Amino acid sequence: MNTRRAAIETIDDIEQTLHYLLQSGWRGFDCPQRCFAVMENWGQAPAKRQETLEDIRADLGDCRRCKLWTKRNNIVFGVGDPGARLVFVGEGPGYDEDQQGEPFVGAAGRLLTRIIAAMGLSRDQVYICNIIKCRPPGNRNPEADEIETCSPFLKRQLKAITPDFICALGTFASQTILESHDPISRLRGRLHDCMGIKVLATYHPAYLLRNPDKKRDVWEDMKLLMKAMGLPLPQK
Ligand code: URA
Repeated sequence: MNTRRAAIETIDDIEQTLHYLLQSGWRGFDCPQRCFAVMENWGQAPAKRQETLEDIRADLGDCRRCKLWTKRNNIVFGVGDPGARLVFVGEGPGYDEDQQGEPFVGAAGRLLTRIIAAMGLSRDQVYICNIIKCRPPGNRNPEADEIETCSPFLKRQLKAITPDFICALGTFASQTILESHDPISRLRGRLHDCMGIKVLATYHPAYLLRNPDKKRDVWEDMKLLMKAMGLPLPQK
């Protein structure tokens, strides 16, 4: 059978199946962000292929676009599943991350790994990255020009991954992703929308290490996220 004929037969099959589902009472089904991204490209020339994480990392190169390059040891790009449904976004690399070139591997990272495990997931089932990719000296807060220069790369990473959910960790990630000046205490506790992706803002694990009484709030946030993702909640 030639390709054209095979395609027509496949479309006929799909049409018949959709008719059957409609007649059986179906009125819709969940469609992940990734499928919408594919559908958006239907009918376009194949040259407009979706940028991959490798493309973005290559474009970043030995980045010197902001002043942070002078003191960094490693660019911390991100790790995890390039097709993840859930992306965790932190602030920026700390000492351990700068040494190892991997996000969230220090004390705050170990807490994040436990939070992910409590959700019934593992680090390699999600994607983990930061707003800025180089360590600010002395772990100071990222400055506005550094966020402005680096965050387009995060946006491109999110476009390449097309997750259904983002968990923004702490003030800088939450305010940058949600383009808000509201404090994290007001942004947390509910789902927001960013480029069609559902965003949950919550406290940063490093803040939890200093304020363990806030762990209860983070767990409430995670349960909200798990419910939205259709993940099983732990039995009481
Ligand atoms: N804190 C962050 O925000 N990101 C890391 O990667 C590590 C600590």
